[in-house]
Amino acid sequence: VKEHGGGSLMMYEPGTAQKTLERILLENELRKSVQKGHFTLEYQPKMNLELGELSGVEALVRWNHPDLGRIPPDTFIPLAEETKIIVPLGEWILRQACKQAWQWRKQGFKPFRIAVNMSTVQLEEPDIVSTIKRVLHEEDVTPEFIEIELTESSFADREEMRHTIQAIREIGITVAIDDFGTGYSTFSYIKELPADTLKIDMSFIQDIDVNEQSRAIVKAIVTLADTAGLRVIAEGIETEEQAKLLLTLGCKEGQGYFYSKPVPADECEYMIPKTVEY
Ligand code: C2E
Ligand code: CA
Ligand code: CA
Ligand code: CA
Repeated sequence: VKEHGGGSLMMYEPGTAQKTLERILLENELRKSVQKGHFTLEYQPKMNLELGELSGVEALVRWNHPDLGRIPPDTFIPLAEETKIIVPLGEWILRQACKQAWQWRKQGFKPFRIAVNMSTVQLEEPDIVSTIKRVLHEEDVTPEFIEIELTESSFADREEMRHTIQAIREIGITVAIDDFGTGYSTFSYIKELPADTLKIDMSFIQDIDVNEQSRAIVKAIVTLADTAGLRVIAEGIETEEQAKLLLTLGCKEGQGYFYSKPVPADECEYMIPKTVEY
């Protein structure tokens, strides 16, 4: 085992140096791609489960690297968070979602919210609220077209987070707590964070038809949401049976491959109702 001066590249485990090198290379590529704009957004419909009608969409970022191909968000988002590259990237994502909201509006589609994912790393930026306001203003989009899905990715100052979320909701943007029921996002969370919606983690949905415990947890989250006056949505619905079960448990909104995978904007347009024309 070698001692290195800075201590950051010590090789205690086989593979560590390799991983560190890969990380540094990936971080470098990530920075270049943010500058060159090698990202796109895909959209996944959110459905009213009773009517089978689109009620909103979630925007999901895609990294299309010219040589490495498509790199999944689960690989690069954590790195973007650690390195704070998520701050400029996140602003680009919000702006892109706003541009799409404006487009759909202009095309005469029924108004609905585009949900944009944001990590607590982004919300910890001291000027995040004014950045959000500025982007919406510059893209000529009003707040009722935007929702923020919040994932707690690292320990964040709860008191600070509460204030930020409250300020975002005061603009008129709604806030959903993503992956609800897992990690930090447990029941005590909603006492501290003023959200509009609980998004039930897909791990509880995927075995809802075979696992009684998952059913009980979903039921408990729906009851909790009702009591607290929050909306509830299920993600990761892959079968009709799961959708039907969710309805019997009182969950009336959902998304998942059963309805549609995340797709480019024009591919999900056929699912969006047009506004009534007189
Ligand atoms: P998430 O926000 O929980 O998004 C749900 C993930 O599940 C998406 O993966 C989506 O494509 C996938 N999914 C949707 N329906 C189904 C289904 O029926 N079955 C299964 N098995 N999967 C389904 P994706 O797009 O790879 O994103 C992974 C994660 O990366 C997201 O989890 C989110 O935490 C993060 N992410 C994605 N886009 C953004 C973004 O624009 N900003 C930030 N900060 N994070 C993002
Ligand atoms: Ca999400
Ligand atoms: Ca989620
Ligand atoms: Ca997730």
